[in-house]
Amino acid sequence: MSQSVHASFVPLRRTFGLSVLELLRLRSPRQIVIWGAGTLGRCLLRQFKRASPETPVCFVDQSEKLRGCVRDGGVVFGLDDLSQLFSKEPSSYVIVAAGSHYPLVRSELERLGRAEGKDFCNFQKISRPEAIIEIAARSAVEKGATNQYLPVKTFSQIVNNFAREMRDIFAIDLTGWGRPIIHPDIAEIVRISEAVAPTKLSVSINEPIELIRSGFLTGLTQFTVTVEDELTDDNIVLLECLADASRGVPTELRVLFTEFQDNIKSLPLITEQCATLGLRLVRDLGYPSSYDRFLDALESGRDFGNQFNRLPWPVSNALIAARSERERECLCQRIFPVVHSDASVSVCHLYSERRLSARADMDSIEQLFEKRSTADLCRSCQNFGLHRLDIDVLRRRNKI
Ligand code: SF4
Repeated sequence: MSQSVHASFVPLRRTFGLSVLELLRLRSPRQIVIWGAGTLGRCLLRQFKRASPETPVCFVDQSEKLRGCVRDGGVVFGLDDLSQLFSKEPSSYVIVAAGSHYPLVRSELERLGRAEGKDFCNFQKISRPEAIIEIAARSAVEKGATNQYLPVKTFSQIVNNFAREMRDIFAIDLTGWGRPIIHPDIAEIVRISEAVAPTKLSVSINEPIELIRSGFLTGLTQFTVTVEDELTDDNIVLLECLADASRGVPTELRVLFTEFQDNIKSLPLITEQCATLGLRLVRDLGYPSSYDRFLDALESGRDFGNQFNRLPWPVSNALIAARSERERECLCQRIFPVVHSDASVSVCHLYSERRLSARADMDSIEQLFEKRSTADLCRSCQNFGLHRLDIDVLRRRNKI
């Protein structure tokens, strides 16, 4: 059954949340304390350092291993040091980069006499524009097509434009829909990217082990290995190599298990292996690899059949709940621009097919944002509420 086009549209914004400069102006802190020295905290610290090099920024973190270390120029203090930090600099402002632990951290800060908003806030209040630059297409090796790699020179032009025009760029992801690991100049790409912003990269655990070269891994802020199925012996060897390569370096190495209906039985072994190797395991719910098929099916009114049966959440209920939220703003708008290995630019990282621009290095960031603000795809996506299709977010307000 085809559904009619809804008239309202919530225009996408270039930034939302406070920029770090606005926060510094509003609160005039003598010092910024970032609670959490993981990837999130490190991205925040670099935003502050870039925007206001003269403002002292440090971390607090519960990990005893990190206490006394320096991350991106910020000293890591222990939680026991907080009272002393506050008595030395009473106007310190705390940004909490602790993900879902925020309620616990808030209680602790309130116990220390700090007030939410006035003395501290969650990281979500800060504007965090993030770019995706897919440096190598998934099929590059199989096809032997060298133009499926983004050349270093083009990459350098693109990220340097971003650095100039997006002063508060929070992070760069080199993965997109591709296989960054096969790029022949990956070490150079990582070096250029990290000079601009904290850089992340994901690979499948099924990549050949010889492609996982420690030289680039150690230069990254975050390296993720994705797992969807049972671990093979080769997978375990690869994890062992990665655990060795990441010892003593600041790169956050994560193993990401993506949950579907048919793979949950693999989780206990993966959990055990990660614990043995001292690797951080994170879990995520599976989503469709792209939303194009969702949107096509909804626009045409076709029955989904069984094409989304593997998803670990009830698709029909989730789509109804998402559509009921279609007047709300897009949950993905901070992730932009999305650049492909042929340098073209997508409207959105959730959709693989629609393009806004043929060349990222030909348009200014302003022009790209302008083009996105009138993209038919966004209008259609919002009409069906797909811009709200985040199960964790939907479950806070709906029975799914
Ligand atoms: S396509 Fe949808 S999810 Fe993507 S940016 Fe546009 S409105 Fe947001």
